[in-house]
Amino acid sequence: MKNLVKPTLAAFVSLFFPKLCPGCMNPLFGKEKVICFDCQMSLPQTDHLWDFENVLWKRMNQLLKVERAVALLEFQKQSRVESLLYQLKYKGQQEIGSFLGNWLVPQLKQSNVFGGVDVVLPLPLHPKRLKQRGYNQVQLFSESLSKHLQIPLVDDLVYRKKRTRQLAKMRGTDRFVEVEEAFAVRQDGHYPPRHWQLVDDVITTGATISSCGNAILEACGGRISIVSLASRLS
Ligand SMILES: [Zn+2]
Repeated sequence: MKNLVKPTLAAFVSLFFPKLCPGCMNPLFGKEKVICFDCQMSLPQTDHLWDFENVLWKRMNQLLKVERAVALLEFQKQSRVESLLYQLKYKGQQEIGSFLGNWLVPQLKQSNVFGGVDVVLPLPLHPKRLKQRGYNQVQLFSESLSKHLQIPLVDDLVYRKKRTRQLAKMRGTDRFVEVEEAFAVRQDGHYPPRHWQLVDDVITTGATISSCGNAILEACGGRISIVSLASRLS
C-alpha cells in the first residue's frame, strides 16, 4: 500500500509546488528531471570541442601554456546559461552539474578533448568558502566526467591558500592581483600527474584558472588543459 501512496502524494505535492527549470524558471513536466527540454534544445553551445585552437585556447595561452581549453556553453548576461550557473553556484542546485556532465559526455568523448589526460581536477574553493556554500559547484560535474571518461578525479593535491574576494564586480586587472598566488600544490612525495584537466564553471578573464594552472606548473611541471561549463570569451 505504501508504494502506491508515495507516488500519488509526490504527484499531489508537485501539482502545487512544481519543480522549476533552473534555466528558464518554468515548471518541469513529465520526464523533465533537471532542465526542461526547451532549454536543452536552446542552450548555446560553443564550437570549442571541434576547434581546439578556439578563442578561449588563444586567450588562455596568453596567460599560461595550455594544451586544450574548452568552454561548453556561451555565457551571456541575463541568459538561460547565466540562470543555470547562478542556481548551480548559489542556490544549492548541485544536480545541474551532474546533469550537464552526463548530457555532454558523448560529445566530450567524440571530440577527444580529454585524450591523454591523467587527472580531472575541480578548481578548489577556499575551505571557508566551501564551508559557507556547503559544496564546490563543479564537484558533481567533474565527478560525472571522471566516471564516464574513466579518468581519476583528484581534489586533494591542489588547495587555496588565500581567501579571495568575489571577483564578479572587479575589473580585469584587479582580478589578476586578487588571485595572485591564491593556489598551492600539496607535495606528498608521490609522482605528480603529467596532464591535468582543470574544471571551472565560468571563465571570464581567465585570472583564477590561470593562477591555479601556473601554481601547478611551477610546483610540478607537466601539462594543463581546461574545461569550463561556460565562457564569456566565446
Ligand atoms: Zn528551461
